[in-house]
This record gives sequence, structure tokens and C-alpha cells, in this order.
Amino acid sequence: METEKKYKLSGQVHVKAMELALSLCEPGSSLLEIAERTENFIRKQGAIPAFPVNISINEVAAHYSPIIDDTSEIPDHSIVKIDLGVAVDGFITDAARMKIFDSKFEKLKTSAEHALFAALKKINDKVNVYEVGAVVEKTIRKEGFKPITNLSGHSLGQYSLHDGLSIPNYGKNKKLWKPKDVFHKNNAYAIEPFSTTGKGIVIDDDLETIFIHYSQLRNTPSPQAREVFVYIKKHFYGLPFSPRWLVEKFSKKQIEQALEELTEQHVLHGYSVLKEITNKPVAQAEDTIFLKENGKKVILTRKKVSNS
Ligand code: MN
Ligand code: MN
Repeated sequence: METEKKYKLSGQVHVKAMELALSLCEPGSSLLEIAERTENFIRKQGAIPAFPVNISINEVAAHYSPIIDDTSEIPDHSIVKIDLGVAVDGFITDAARMKIFDSKFEKLKTSAEHALFAALKKINDKVNVYEVGAVVEKTIRKEGFKPITNLSGHSLGQYSLHDGLSIPNYGKNKKLWKPKDVFHKNNAYAIEPFSTTGKGIVIDDDLETIFIHYSQLRNTPSPQAREVFVYIKKHFYGLPFSPRWLVEKFSKKQIEQALEELTEQHVLHGYSVLKEITNKPVAQAEDTIFLKENGKKVILTRKKVSNS
């Protein structure tokens, strides 16, 4: 099957998985249940989660995925970002949607969505990534919010979630526009504006809920950690994973000790939960597009696959 077809298939699974996740997301519902049911649904479609389901609430911008035995629930009066990844033979679609449980977030939510639509419209194989960033920034500022400048969209590759090119959420300064930073045909890109009522910067929280296989073993790990490492290497294809995905095979204690040992040795990398620096609410909207050989683009993560 050709690349474009696999991306389209990945996008079709994504659309259905997102529908399920959003339908499960209500105040009081369990984050763990939303994540696991959605991840299992993706697997049943013959795909794999390209990363653990992210459920980021209020000032948390990204990288919160339920932990083992997570007991947290969707709070009342919250803004929730659900960010999913689907991989079909390694071809990844990555998109995020929001649910708000208080009308005070309506304008914030739509500012991120408007920025996404404006960015998608702007993209072609001649435009600079910062021109797209400028459109994102302008749209969000015009609506009275700030873009988050240290989060960005990204190119996608086979089994590669961030494949080299970043698409910033700012870009008014034309000095930034380098000729090499352009979109390429036959490539997929995730575009993801974030907006906030805060300062527009995210910082690392102490918690890490998502990990990735980062480099080969250098030091000799304990036999228990080695066992976990071999499993991770075999099953997660170098894509981000959740410690939850290890519980059917290992005890919670062994998982925790192995993660600690292997991140210490930089064999694994743990992603920190990212939150807005002033603890203000954050909105995110994301879609994956594929730029075809003829220059046209396909929004892969929308129900009606639109060609333009
Ligand atoms: Mn995403
Ligand atoms: Mn992304």
C-alpha cells in the first residue's frame, strides 16, 4: 500500500477513536477509562496508539496521560484537551480536540480552532513554516489571547512523531523565515496552535507520565530493568509509551524501578507534564495534513477528508 493510503487509513481510525474519547469525556468520568478504552479501540482497528492518550486539563497544556491506577476524574467547569495518535504501519496521524464544561472557555477554545483553520489554509509546499506561525499568532492575538510560543507543530515520519521540522505558533518577525524551513510534498504535518489567557509559555511539571526509548543500553542494567527494556524495545517501535502498557507483563514495582533506572541512564526519556507558567487555562486544536505530490493537501484527521 502506498504512503498516502496508509495515512488515510490512519486518519480514519483516528476520527473514530476521537469520537469515542470525546463521548466518554464528561465531568466525573475517569481519565484512566477514557484513555484505556480509546487505546484499546485503536488496537482493535488493526492500528496502534502512536503515543498514550493525552488528557490535559485547564492549565496543563500537554503530556498528561493517566498513570497506573490513576484515580483522577474530569473536573466540573474545566477545559479538556484530548490528544490522540494513531499509527498504521508506522504512518502517524496526530490530532487534538477540546471539550469545555464552562461557557467561560468558549472564546479561548474557538481562538485555537480558528488559528488551526487559518494555518491549514495557509500551508502549501512553498510557504515558510514561520508564515504559518505568523497566521496562528495573528489569529489568536486578534481574539484577545496569547499563543504558546514554546510549543509547536511538527513534521511526521514513519514511526517518527517529531521528524525534524517544527511549525511554530508565532512568526511575525520575517528575519526568522529561513528558506530551508518549508513544507515538502509527500509528507505529513501535525499543526497544533495553543492559546491561553496566561503568558504564553509552558514549563515542566515534576510529573512524567509518558516515556520513550531514547538510546541503546550503555551501562549494565539490573536483570529486572533489562527485562522491561527488552519488552519496550520489542513492542513500542521507538514511539512514546505509557507505563500502563507494561502492567499486563510486569509488577508495578518492577515497572517503577526499571523506569527510574533506565531514565537515570538516559536509555529512556520521560516527558514532563507541561503547564502554563502562570497556571492559566490553555486551549489546543490539532490536525494532521498530508501534502500530496500534486501539491494539494488532505486533512487526514477530519471526517470529511477534504482536498483543497
Ligand atoms: Mn498531538
Ligand atoms: Mn502533535
